[in-house]
Amino acid sequence: VPELPEVETICRQLEPEVLGRRIKRVEIHDPRWTRPAPPVSVVAGIEGRRIESVGRRGKYILLALDDGSALLMHLRMTGNLVVGGDRLGGERLYEPESSAEDRHLRAELHLDDGRSLRFTDPRRFGHAALLGSGELGPYLDERLGIEPLSGELTPAHLLGVAAGRTAPLKSFLLDQRNVAGIGNIYADEALHRSRLHPLSPAGSMRIEHAEDLCEGIVDALELGIHNGGSSIDDYRDARGEQGSMQHEFLVHTREGEECPRCGEPISRIVVSGRSTSSGPSCQGRLRRRPKRRRRAAAPRRREAGG
Ligand SMILES: [Zn+2]
Repeated sequence: VPELPEVETICRQLEPEVLGRRIKRVEIHDPRWTRPAPPVSVVAGIEGRRIESVGRRGKYILLALDDGSALLMHLRMTGNLVVGGDRLGGERLYEPESSAEDRHLRAELHLDDGRSLRFTDPRRFGHAALLGSGELGPYLDERLGIEPLSGELTPAHLLGVAAGRTAPLKSFLLDQRNVAGIGNIYADEALHRSRLHPLSPAGSMRIEHAEDLCEGIVDALELGIHNGGSSIDDYRDARGEQGSMQHEFLVHTREGEECPRCGEPISRIVVSGRSTSSGPSCQGRLRRRPKRRRRAAAPRRREAGG
């Protein structure tokens, strides 16, 4: 499931490919993609428009268009957004792997250079919305909290958002209205890095815990971006290729393996219906947390080769 690093990877790859290109023709094969708006209204709104910028907020991909509107896309569980067709220079960027790929094609934006943006999605939870100027800000603010890789994520801000919350930290991090862009993978990785147990109540953090958590979130997300995202199942980047972050996980999907910090087997529990991996002896519940913490023992960020 694509989270912030996966979506950021796609946006960074898309930008040089589609910036300034005009959307010539749009095919929407699945009316669910634009729900509740009818596909025809979205098609009419974006055909002929020029792409002025490619951006991301939380897990949303944002294409700003030259009339001030924005096409917002969310990949949800199994969505992929891939640049297809021939490049101007003739280099083939991406070819559909099989006819199955076409079967899952939900929408295709044909650009004025002969290439296209292909939104494929087997589970069909991904969606798009066309928002007029002035609508985008309120739409996003209603759904998303702190943007973690902006200057907004400070320990004091995080502590303020968590104040009085009894929800477990894992659930707190998954709620996009608290911190935007974090899903199951990076919540597990961030909590491990910050030595916090996923079941600790969010509101019981003190400032030092919030400091550790901010650092853990940023480190986990940046390593994810550095590795081009995680391809556990369906995720492919904008070139149709897999990411490599799945090889760098400290605890996520590593149940039963040795914890890289304490050597104990990594445990798996279910929190809010989501599979959750953590180090059983090095991620203490907050009340059992020792006063003196040894920062030097924190895991170093592993840089991937290449
Ligand atoms: Zn451990």
